[in-house]
Amino acid sequence: MAVCARLCGVGPARGCRRRQQRRGPAEAAVADSEPDTDPEEERIEAGAASAGPGAGPGAGADTDPDADPGAERVEAGAASAGPGVGPAAPPARCSLLELPPELLVEIFASLPGTDLPSLAQVCTKFRRILHTDTIWRRRCREEYGACESPRRLESAGVSCRDVYTQLLHRYRHILGLWQPDIGPYGGLLNVVVDGLFIIGWMYLPPHDPHVDDPMRFKPLFRIHLMERRSATVECMYGHKGPHNGHVQIGKKDEFSTKCNQTDHHRMSGGRQEEFRTWLKEEWGRTLEDIFHEHMQELILMKFIYTSQYDNCLTYRRIYLPPSHPDDLIKPGLFKGTYGSHGLELVMVSFHGQYARGTKITGDPNIPAGQQTVEIDLRHRIQLPDAENLCNFNELSRIVLEVHEQVRREQQQEAGDSPAPPREQPATRGPGGAAAQDGAASAPAGQGQPFVLPVGVSSRNEKYPRTCRMCFYGTGLIAGHGFTSPERTPGVFVLFDENRFGFLWLELKSFSLYSRVQATFRNADAPSPQAFEEMLKNIQSLSS
Ligand SMILES: [Zn+2]
Repeated sequence: MAVCARLCGVGPARGCRRRQQRRGPAEAAVADSEPDTDPEEERIEAGAASAGPGAGPGAGADTDPDADPGAERVEAGAASAGPGVGPAAPPARCSLLELPPELLVEIFASLPGTDLPSLAQVCTKFRRILHTDTIWRRRCREEYGACESPRRLESAGVSCRDVYTQLLHRYRHILGLWQPDIGPYGGLLNVVVDGLFIIGWMYLPPHDPHVDDPMRFKPLFRIHLMERRSATVECMYGHKGPHNGHVQIGKKDEFSTKCNQTDHHRMSGGRQEEFRTWLKEEWGRTLEDIFHEHMQELILMKFIYTSQYDNCLTYRRIYLPPSHPDDLIKPGLFKGTYGSHGLELVMVSFHGQYARGTKITGDPNIPAGQQTVEIDLRHRIQLPDAENLCNFNELSRIVLEVHEQVRREQQQEAGDSPAPPREQPATRGPGGAAAQDGAASAPAGQGQPFVLPVGVSSRNEKYPRTCRMCFYGTGLIAGHGFTSPERTPGVFVLFDENRFGFLWLELKSFSLYSRVQATFRNADAPSPQAFEEMLKNIQSLSS
């Protein structure tokens, strides 16, 4: 916080602070590195004097890189120290202040930007050097990946130091990946730096049921840095262009947006036009196209519920899952079919012998944040022979057998009885071994035929007709309003690195999932523990 306060104080030159205030911590640090006990003033004068002749573009080190810098410093030090200290002064001083400016620029540019304000308070020389914009350009690039062209900065009348202090540092807490708190529906927002802007991009699934189509995205807000002004926040919601907004950074890993001109969200045709436009964007259809009455109701409800927020939303930080070389596939985000609810975003992560699918967007049955599927990687399922592939009862029998076995194992583990029932070795042995073998030596690219059993519905008929392997898993189902949730058995079908499916046995329904190919910035979890913690948080918030 102290650093922050000082950083925000780096403004245009206000004269040397050194004379107005006593030593700060950074000054003390500089002093500590000096072996002598000269008063500060003298050292600085000495530094200035010695820097004088060499400070120009052709400083000694530049013209003759092989010259012994130590010797030069000794000379300079001795010459400048002369009048103040007398002949008895130690001859070999090595002061930072005596380094040529271009070397200091090099050193300062390699430090964290948050350390620079303290340096600027050390002395006039440092303050002056810290006006060098290349230092701040490098800080913007290395710390925030922001590299704006000098020409564009110039035409905007903004310096890299402004970009660093007024935009990047000031709004650093909102960069990253976020989930809006919007009832059961959730969402995905990536806040990124783009030139002189910070932009909040909302990512939306493609139109139902085209899971392989790319994500759609639109800006919800932006923060714009302009000449001699602090950054302005604009709401981008609606169809009438940017307008006045507000960003509030609250608790850790949380922030809110507010729109100050919600009249910009309204349409001349009233709510009906707003609904029709929303429907076209979200579903690519008209209400008449959707014959299914239940689906019409769900869509209308979502519109009414979400539009009441008018872009005044609170966001919670989420992370992308950490990946491990042993994972079945690369973890990440997937678009999946959820029946009448349309497409939803699911995050796949690996946890030892289980894989989890966590909802990033949700619906009134199973809300965002909940664990929609859990894959038991110890229990591989062997699909029926080709001629029996279409037989639902055959598949059902196989899955329910594994389901029973898993249930017995869980009871034993929960009971932790000293004398385990004798089925244990028999049931656990083959299942576990098979799964391990399968997972370890998964033949990449080599598939077996796959077709959905007769009677199982899939919104997307274009699912792959070969699969790599199948596992037992459970899916979460609940009544409207997330009432009496329960886990129901199913089959996880791995098609390839980027696609999988889940067959909901009791619902006789199939969900197809396809990887989100978009890349998200500042989205990695700082540690596996932080990721687990995040999953727990978003789950508890929707329970
Ligand atoms: Zn607005």
